Amino acid sequence: MSPDKYIKNYIDGALVPAISGEYLDNVNPAIGQVYSHIPASEASDVQRAYEAAERAFPEWSKAGVQKRFRILTRLADIIEQNLDAFAKAESIDSGKPFRNAQTIDIPRAHQNIRFFATAIMHFSSESHHMEGEAINFTLRQPIGVVGCISPWNLPLYLFTWKIAPALATGNCVVAKPSEVTPMTAYLLSKACIEAGLPPGVLNIVHGEGPKAGQAIIEHPKIKAISFTGGTNTGRKIAATAAPMFKKLSLELGGKNPNIIFADCDFDKMIVGTLKSSFSNNGQICLCGSRIYVERPIYDKFKEELVKRTKFLKVGDPFSSVTDLGAMVSRSHMEKVMSYVALAEVEGGKILCGGEQVEMKGEHEGGYYLRPAVIEGLPHDCRTNQEEIFGPVVTIMPFDTEEEVLKYANGTDYGLSATLWTKDITKANRIAESIQAGIVWVNCWLLRDLRTPFGGVKSSGVGREGGLEALRFFTEAKNVCFKY
Ligand code: NAD
Repeated sequence: MSPDKYIKNYIDGALVPAISGEYLDNVNPAIGQVYSHIPASEASDVQRAYEAAERAFPEWSKAGVQKRFRILTRLADIIEQNLDAFAKAESIDSGKPFRNAQTIDIPRAHQNIRFFATAIMHFSSESHHMEGEAINFTLRQPIGVVGCISPWNLPLYLFTWKIAPALATGNCVVAKPSEVTPMTAYLLSKACIEAGLPPGVLNIVHGEGPKAGQAIIEHPKIKAISFTGGTNTGRKIAATAAPMFKKLSLELGGKNPNIIFADCDFDKMIVGTLKSSFSNNGQICLCGSRIYVERPIYDKFKEELVKRTKFLKVGDPFSSVTDLGAMVSRSHMEKVMSYVALAEVEGGKILCGGEQVEMKGEHEGGYYLRPAVIEGLPHDCRTNQEEIFGPVVTIMPFDTEEEVLKYANGTDYGLSATLWTKDITKANRIAESIQAGIVWVNCWLLRDLRTPFGGVKSSGVGREGGLEALRFFTEAKNVCFKY
């Protein structure tokens, strides 16, 4: 399962270039150099993918759960058998440490596929009995051809999280991975061919969002869209898709609070907080970038967090001692640095980090940033309101539950929240009042794939995960039998 210099689209079971023959550059962010090329697909490529999916739909939708289960399980096995090749490709493409790709991203990708392959075997629908008169039952039927669009931060992890439930429920898919990190989706195409996925069932079209992505959204016959990405992109997608009455699932940005009470288990909290702040260079929608600390432990927390942050090793993604690899692109690194500069203008004090790391040798041109901790900012400034999506956290003291809830809920976002306390009554009280789709208490990013996943407010519409995803990718039809 090897990467190629020229990535191809996967349409109708074959690896093909874009119709225009044009390519985009794909950069290795660890060295800052172009290392491969992506098809610059357009509406005509999406149309070709749609037609293949439409042809495949009658057979795939009627194939039965056993057959879909067997093929998807085989696909999961192939990814697992090629774990290191996938992890290496993911690391080169995204700049994340190889170790993380090997132990988090790629395992989760084959788990996603296996999870939904088995979930479909246990999926059932409701029946409603009208005593002495009739029985209603709900058919859950595949929608048809659906579109899946994913971002660059967890490339194969999030791509498979969408595709797997769509395919398991009998839909055919036109999918687009991020043009910033396309390589493992390309390897997935090869794995699909090896697994014997029938041609046209899954089609992967590479290219830029406003061209290939927008063409999927605008396609009149693609009836549902599952999208993960930025809130502004989600807004554009909704503006196009909503008047076409498409089913929409939008997983968007976050600005998540991490609320730390003085009665927490400090040692566990500090380890968890370091992870929720800087995992994947802070490039996870669920990272806790606004840290609120109850005043009695604020100084101790600040000292410990800054000490541990300075200790994090930034560098070569393939070194076993690296904690943080490269940022995904130059433009993203510059965006994150501009927020550190903004924080200073807004009156924040940079306690550590925020500057580019000067690398030597092969990695000289790479995009490396030292993780930053900032204090002294009000909760309503831009630094604390806008998604930075990088290794930057702000820390702020609070005195009462009421006050911290006001801060935590005081943004347009509502994706996730983390609480650290030993008082379960208090934790439950806060969890009930917090405006977020996911709340972690005394942990972070602990995921059970059966649970609903998604955000409120500007963090999204709809839920993924478990039954929610199976329901999203099926239409419910009620059949009423009078007897
Ligand atoms: P992005 O919105 O720029 O791009 C996401 C995908 O959408 C890419 O494949 C892109 O090519 C495509 N796209 C862009 N414009 C499009 C258009 N007009 N029509 C159709 N597709 C289009 O996001 P990104 O920079 O790749 O990812 C980072 C963002 O994703 C952050 O805001 C992060 O919070 C969010 N995210 C959210 C979740 C979640 O589950 N809520 C998970 C991961 C990332």
